Amino acid sequence: MTTAASFLHWLGGELLGPPAYGSHWFCPRCEGPTPSLSVRPPLDDLPVKFKCHRCNWWGDEHDLLKLVDGITDYGERLERLRVLRARYESQICPAGSRRRQCR
Ligand SMILES: [Zn+2]
Repeated sequence: MTTAASFLHWLGGELLGPPAYGSHWFCPRCEGPTPSLSVRPPLDDLPVKFKCHRCNWWGDEHDLLKLVDGITDYGERLERLRVLRARYESQICPAGSRRRQCR
């Protein structure tokens, strides 16, 4: 069982490794000297986004996958995200989950 605030946060760990500091990663886009990329915690029903506070790059799991894995084809990204999300969901236990593995 693992804990991550959101799929995007989990995906950050998968693609970029563990956060370099707290919940901040080194930004793969501007490659700044300090960890400047963070994932916004889920807020109401708003989509979860990441943002780099240095180069102001922001986006969702598609943007992250496109840059880090270099998958430019949308359909290919969708399929990869589907597989990754299934793995995430098999590992994660959301608050209030009633799934057997989460008890
Ligand atoms: Zn950046």
